[in-house]
Parts: sequence; C-alpha cells; structure tokens
Amino acid sequence: MRILFQSHRFALLCISLMTLGHRVSAQQPPTNPAPDERFKADILVIAPHPDDESTIAGYLARAVLDEHRRVAVVVTTRGDAGQNLVGYEQARTLAEIREMETRQALSSIGITNVFFLRMPDTFGYDVSDVLRSLETANHGSALGEAVRFIRLTRPEVVITMLPATVVGENHEDHQASGVIATEAFDLAGDPTAFPEQVAAPEDRL
Ligand SMILES: [Zn+2]
Repeated sequence: MRILFQSHRFALLCISLMTLGHRVSAQQPPTNPAPDERFKADILVIAPHPDDESTIAGYLARAVLDEHRRVAVVVTTRGDAGQNLVGYEQARTLAEIREMETRQALSSIGITNVFFLRMPDTFGYDVSDVLRSLETANHGSALGEAVRFIRLTRPEVVITMLPATVVGENHEDHQASGVIATEAFDLAGDPTAFPEQVAAPEDRL
C-alpha cells in the first residue's frame, strides 16, 4: 500500500512536470529554419577574374561529374579592366560579357552556383601591389561579401590563389582574392564578425 502510494505521488509529479514542460516549450520562440540546401557546396572556389577559375576546370569537372561533389564559385571581380580582342565592348559592358561567359562555361560542367563580389578589376600594372587592389576594392566591404558567401555555401574546402607573390604569379587582384579568401575563411565561423549576416530577422513578414 505504501509502495502504491509513493508510485501514485511519483506519477502525479511526472504529470505536473510534463505540464510545466509543455507550458515552457509553448512560450519558446520557434527554432531557426534549416539552411537552404541549394547553396551547400563541398568545394568553394574563390577566384579573382572571370576565366581564372578555368585554370583548375579539369579538376572541377572531375569533382562534379565523376565524384558528384557540389562546387560553387565566387569571382571577386568581373574583369572590367581586361582586354577585348574580338569586339568593342569595354569596362562595364565587358564585365557583363565576362560574367555571362563564366556562368555559361561553368554550367557546362555542372556548376551553377556562381557569385560575383564585384570588386573593381585593377589594371595590370608593371609593379603588382596587393594593397592597391585591396584599397580599390574597399577591403572591408569585399571581405564581408566573401564571409557571406562562405556562410551561405558552407564548404568543406576553399580553393583560392596564393596570397603572396610566388614564382611569377603576380597580379595584385590574384593576391587580393587570396587574402580575402583566407581572411573570410577565418571569420566565417565567428558570429561576432559581420553579425548582421547571422542575426535572425526581427520580423520575417
Ligand atoms: Zn586573373
């Protein structure tokens, strides 16, 4: 009898705790929705100019078509300071052509998530200066965009240019893309960096 009484009291306690728990959960805000899987990448390439990603196109084609990896590409400039040997289009119109060609070329090997940071393309000076490229690009602004794309694509691997000048690889935009990619890699997991990107909206509607 005594045992039964204790069991009865235990059951009542459980019911009251369950009721309390239900009341607490009803007051909690809804959980965050899951990330959009359409952005998810196994490999993220951060390249400086439209066509620089093509230097590893063979590897990317194998990764996508043979290994079924998800690849996304961020191009930091749109190549608006490049040459045009087949038409009169220059500057911003040339950038439209190069962006279009990059999207078409990458889609031919199954890569459709292609993003552009829209950093200005710096002219090919005789003396390469990565600081000039970063200054022209508004370094912090470009870095924020790179962090945003890493957070969106959540890659396992980031491929980019070397941040330093090495054996003739000396275009300042190339080094700048490597600097920004490296910095963004370090910052993307820190919620205090560009916190507005990871803050939930106050009013989704
Ligand atoms: Zn380039």
